[in-house]
Amino acid sequence: DVFYRQLPKVELHAHLNGSVSSQTIEKLIKRKPHLNIEHSMTAIGKGQRRTLDECFQVFKVIHQLVDTEEDILMVARDVIREFAADSVKYLELRSTPREEKSTGLTKKKYIETVIRAIQLCKNEGLDIDVRFLVAIDRRNGEKVAMETVELAEEFLMSSDDLVVGLDLSGDPTVGDGKSLLPALQRAKNCGLKLSLHLLIPLNQLHLVPSQLEESDLLLNLPPDRIGHGTFLHPEVGGSQSLVDKVLKNNIPLELCLTSNIKGQTVPCYTEHHFKYWYQLGHPSVICTDDKGVFCTDLSQEYQLAASTFGLSHEAIWKLSHQAIDCIFKWIDLQPQVFH
Ligand code: 5GP
Repeated sequence: DVFYRQLPKVELHAHLNGSVSSQTIEKLIKRKPHLNIEHSMTAIGKGQRRTLDECFQVFKVIHQLVDTEEDILMVARDVIREFAADSVKYLELRSTPREEKSTGLTKKKYIETVIRAIQLCKNEGLDIDVRFLVAIDRRNGEKVAMETVELAEEFLMSSDDLVVGLDLSGDPTVGDGKSLLPALQRAKNCGLKLSLHLLIPLNQLHLVPSQLEESDLLLNLPPDRIGHGTFLHPEVGGSQSLVDKVLKNNIPLELCLTSNIKGQTVPCYTEHHFKYWYQLGHPSVICTDDKGVFCTDLSQEYQLAASTFGLSHEAIWKLSHQAIDCIFKWIDLQPQVFH
C-alpha cells in the first residue's frame, strides 16, 4: 500500500546482519561458493516459523558469509539504501563487532567499516540519517562486554556523533545479565545510550524466574529503550512492578511484530504486546528487528499493526511521528520530513 511505503518512518531496532536482503545474500553466496550456503538457510519465508534457537542458527550462517571488511561495507551500504528506499528517514543500525582472524578483521575495523558505509551513503545523497549502536552479545560474557563498551566509548568521541549507544542482544538462553551490569553502567556513565533486549521467553513462550529477576535489575539502570519486552506485563507472566518501572521512567519499547511471530515468542499477531502498551499510551515504536531474516520491511510492519489493531491512517501517522521522540540523537527531523 502506497500510504505505508511513502510514510516517513523512523527505524530504531535493526540488527545489521539480520537485515541483509536476499539480493545481497545472493552477492555474498557468489563471493563464497565453497561454503555451500543456500538462500533457504538465511531467511524465514512467508508463513514459516522457527524456534528462537533456530533463528540464532540462521545468524550463524549469515556470519559465515559476512567475514571481511568488504562484506561488511557492502552489507551496510545495501541495508541503508534499502531502508532509504522504504522512506525510512532516520535509522539506528546495531551490530555486534566481530573479529575474524582468518581475514584480518578486528572489532575496531568492524565498527570503522560500518561508519564508513554510513558516510558513503551520506555522500551519495541518500535521504536518510543513520546512527550506529554497538551491540553486546550476552553470550560472550562480562569481559567482552566491558571491552565492547570501551571500544564504543572511543567511537563516541571520534565518530562525528555516528556512534550513539549500546545494544544488549543475543541468545537470551545464554549468559547472565546480572554480570553485565558493571559494563552497562559504565556505558551509561560515559554518555552512551542504552537499548536492552528484555524479557524474551526462553522457548515456546516460557520465562524462567531468573529472567524476571535479571530484567528487574536491568530496568533499575534504567535503560533508554527496551527491545521487545515481550513478557513484561502481568497478563503474560511479567509483573506490575516491572510495568511500573517502565512507565515511571517512560522507557520507550521497540516492538517487532513479524519477528516475534516467526520466532514464536508471541503466539499470534492479535496477541502481540503492542496492544497492551499502545492502549496505555506508552511510547511504542514499530521496528523490523531483522528485515532480511524475517522477510519484511518497515512499511509492511506498520501496515500489519494497522490491520491487526484497527488503526486509521491518522493513528499510524501519529505513531510514526512519535518515534522521533525516542531516537538517541537529537536531530531536527521535524521540519524537513514531517511538514
Ligand atoms: P549482527 O549483530 O551480527 O549485526 O546481527 C545479528 C545478531 O543480532 C545476532 O547474532 C543476535 O546476537 C542479534 N539478534 C538479532 N535478532 C535478535 C532477536 O530477535 N533477539 C535477540 N535477543 N538478539 C537478536
